[in-house]
Amino acid sequence: MELKKFLSIHILCVLIFVGFLYYFTIFVFLDDLLSLQSSAGKFHSFFFTSMASLCVFSFFVCVLKDPGGVPFSYLPDVEDHEASDQESKRSGLLKKKCDKCSEYKPPRAHHCRICRRCILRMDHHCAWINNCVGHRNYKAFVALIFYATVAIIYSSVILVSDTIHKDWNLDGVMHLKLFYIAAGVVLIGLSLTLGTLLGWHIYLTMRNMTTIEYYEGKRAAWLASKSGMNYHHPYDVGAYKNINLVLGPNMLKWLCPTAVSHIKDGLSFPTSREYS
Ligand SMILES: [Zn+2]
Ligand SMILES: [Zn+2]
Repeated sequence: MELKKFLSIHILCVLIFVGFLYYFTIFVFLDDLLSLQSSAGKFHSFFFTSMASLCVFSFFVCVLKDPGGVPFSYLPDVEDHEASDQESKRSGLLKKKCDKCSEYKPPRAHHCRICRRCILRMDHHCAWINNCVGHRNYKAFVALIFYATVAIIYSSVILVSDTIHKDWNLDGVMHLKLFYIAAGVVLIGLSLTLGTLLGWHIYLTMRNMTTIEYYEGKRAAWLASKSGMNYHHPYDVGAYKNINLVLGPNMLKWLCPTAVSHIKDGLSFPTSREYS
């Protein structure tokens, strides 16, 4: 078990924050709004507990799951390089070598300076999970931001409803008002941040694109436009097929972080040329 991965200040901050969020949402705001003894209070606490548990589970998968490294036996395919002579083949192979770790780099793999190795289908290195987001844990990362967004928006709605219904004449102590204002600013700010991040990764999933490929694609599109051509992301095979390739063919398991049987070796990927 790679439990030492949890020895990170960012991970500690996330776990402490989740603990505080859970406690205040259920035992302060919800209890004050509906009472935990009522059936409505029990229903809302059950829903929020489920979302928070799924969020923590996805978080653990993201931290512990290896995003995917390049196997030692990997050799790139040089046939597609239109190289007939040995010299051209050698220069083609050199282009596919990582200049930092000297390993051959499969398509879509990138070198992570923090992990000090090449990561398959690398999206980005995330300090909050103390891990790279890559080929094998990208689905868990999408699930994590989905459950985190739902939980934080739910928590914000409970807080705002409690603030509106609270009898401030009875409980209107200044420090309590300040606490509610501070909690509102944090929760609404986080709802907007996580909502934007979720929207961004839904867009990337629908285009079968990583964050790195988005920025590479912008540059490639600019260069192509200068020569009067159009750039098309090579791994974009249509929105629904893209979602199936990233999240799996079974819609019911799209948000299950451990349902990853559809994930292949990460050394090659279907392209739009093969699909057309
Ligand atoms: Zn490398
Ligand atoms: Zn990394």
